[in-house]
Amino acid sequence: MSPWRRRREPGLPSGWEHITERAMAHWALLDEPERTRLGELMELLLRHKRWEAAAGFALTDEIRVVIAAQAALLILGLDYACYRDVQAIIVHPTTITLTGARPGPAEGLVTDSPMPILGQANDRRGPVIIAWDAARADARHPERGHNVVFHEFAHKLDMLDDLIDGTPPLADAAARKRWIEVCTAEYELLRSGYGDDLLSDYAAVNPGEFFAVVTEVFFDLPRELRAAKPDLYSVLRDFYRQDPALRQAPG
Ligand SMILES: [Zn+2]
Repeated sequence: MSPWRRRREPGLPSGWEHITERAMAHWALLDEPERTRLGELMELLLRHKRWEAAAGFALTDEIRVVIAAQAALLILGLDYACYRDVQAIIVHPTTITLTGARPGPAEGLVTDSPMPILGQANDRRGPVIIAWDAARADARHPERGHNVVFHEFAHKLDMLDDLIDGTPPLADAAARKRWIEVCTAEYELLRSGYGDDLLSDYAAVNPGEFFAVVTEVFFDLPRELRAAKPDLYSVLRDFYRQDPALRQAPG
């Protein structure tokens, strides 16, 4: 398709700050420069990515803004180019049920049992798929520690080096070494059955899911994560270049 025939995306709608403030609890904790940066990233995401609704569903400004705000929060300390491989965001009204043969839970296995999911980001250049009802509830309730938008976009960051291995591109060899040491220790702890209230069992599925799940907790329950797992918190803080545990609710 010729670039000039591609439909221009409209960018940030007026009132986006009001929508974000109402819909995303994290907004209240951001300072003014962070809010400005969030808006810049949201504008880029809304203008340059393809936003699609699943069949029978229609996107509204609220849907686009609330999903873009969460995706933007993840890279508030990073570069917009981190999302260069995100070409499309496909929004479903609610839980999506996967059917048909696909890779199973273990390598080499194929499954065809129906599986309900809230989101998906399987391929480096494939779309991010999001269930709107989950994304909306997660934005309002960080205290639950689950966030489908953080989760799926974290997979996209992980995939920047072509591997979904729980290790996104890091600043240097020392950072990479420390990341692998800290994450492997926590992951092995979970695998050996030492689950905890903070990280869901899903984090023990594979290293890629571990990174996506700890990302959710890092942004939703940062003080709890810092208190319980300071090493894990610190490698995430260094990677994301954000320190969400320091953000304080106003007054
Ligand atoms: Zn996942």
